[in-house]
Amino acid sequence: MPYSYEAPVSQTLFDRASLVTPGGVNSPVRAFRAVGGTPRFMVSGTGPYLNDADGREYVDLVCSWGPMILGHAHPEVIAAVQDAVSRGTSFGTPGEGEVALAEEIVARVAPVEQVRLVSSGTEATMSAIRLARGFTGRAKVVKFAGCYHGHVDALLAAAGSGVATFGLPDTPGVTGAQAGDTIVLPYNDLGAVRQAFAAHPGEIACVITEASPGNMGVVPPRDGFNQGLKDLCAQNGALYISDEVMTGFRTSRAGWYGVDGVVPDLMTFGKVMGGGFPAAAFGGRADVMAHLAPAGPVYQAGTLSGNPVATAAGLAQLRLLDDAAYEKVDAVSREIQALVTDALSKEGVAHRLQTASNMFSVFFTDAEVVNYDDAKKQEAFRFTAFFHSMLAQGVYLPPSAFESWFVSTAHDERAVERIAAGLPAAARAAA
Ligand code: PLP
Repeated sequence: MPYSYEAPVSQTLFDRASLVTPGGVNSPVRAFRAVGGTPRFMVSGTGPYLNDADGREYVDLVCSWGPMILGHAHPEVIAAVQDAVSRGTSFGTPGEGEVALAEEIVARVAPVEQVRLVSSGTEATMSAIRLARGFTGRAKVVKFAGCYHGHVDALLAAAGSGVATFGLPDTPGVTGAQAGDTIVLPYNDLGAVRQAFAAHPGEIACVITEASPGNMGVVPPRDGFNQGLKDLCAQNGALYISDEVMTGFRTSRAGWYGVDGVVPDLMTFGKVMGGGFPAAAFGGRADVMAHLAPAGPVYQAGTLSGNPVATAAGLAQLRLLDDAAYEKVDAVSREIQALVTDALSKEGVAHRLQTASNMFSVFFTDAEVVNYDDAKKQEAFRFTAFFHSMLAQGVYLPPSAFESWFVSTAHDERAVERIAAGLPAAARAAA
């Protein structure tokens, strides 16, 4: 435990947690397994800062893995939540808040004609795939290695390199049958998709892709890749599902769709649209969505779907996300990107900073990263040293070399100065 001395209270909490919760956490990456040391137990957040149980303050470059695009405890989001919660927490009936959130999503993202609210990104992708299978009457799903779509059985398959490998389960508990209809292809390789359609005529229900992947680090689609996917799907009677759980309402007003304009058949959302609460959604073509129960035969449901507190938070956050807000997030992201590159270059550390709008991450390699195999070739041990140096200096980065970094409208000059001050030592540590 080389870093535990820095966080005795967190360590005590982690020890307690480990007795009652597997690995001490409720989502694996929080356990710091990739970087080692003590996961920080946070007690509060304000704007760009998080405060841990040991009384230390960090500039937060994780933003709860994307959702907190206005920073922590934004007063207008908190007020909306307090107002909603004062009227009750769940009714299990329709409510106006969920209608307003659905209208906001439909208004922002043109390809979404109808939308269904759920509680997590995993539910959204799982349901979108079921709907695609129900709509097309086909079984097979194409996904890309390195793209994460939540812990859906059929999508926890990312076979190694190879042109068109059938999905082998990535985890015990997913059966061969569950992953057997999943075709895993290398990202950014349209030729592989073409071959898959040729090899399985009339069998592929959908192609699901992260609109711009952030789960192998940031690896944007090559020019024309998403449009090529859309075209191949259209030519072969399959649906094109764009997973915007991470990019949605973050990379622009209309998410990645607002950046590349490629029109998906179905889209999935989460993170930002929940304002820090469990709210997510899937939506798209009205004729496809009409197949969903109770309008159609494909079953999907949720006790807490459209929860009034979650929808109030999400709606308040989305309404604050105007063009000026995105300009601010983009600008601060560019500023931090430049500082990181500058510090690493000064120390001669081979690296590549990859971006997708205001999402970015650093790969410790000098080769271009266009797919998962490339991403895995980076020298991740350098990230570990970099991460711990920044942590010790009060900057909280994602605890893995294969994640996007996130900023918010709240990242102000003082926060950027803290990052700038920490970078030289972190770059030396990574060298
Ligand atoms: N899809 C993408 C692109 C994601 O990044 C994630 C989570 O990080 C998910 C789906 C799953 O969302 P959740 O963690 O809310 O289940």
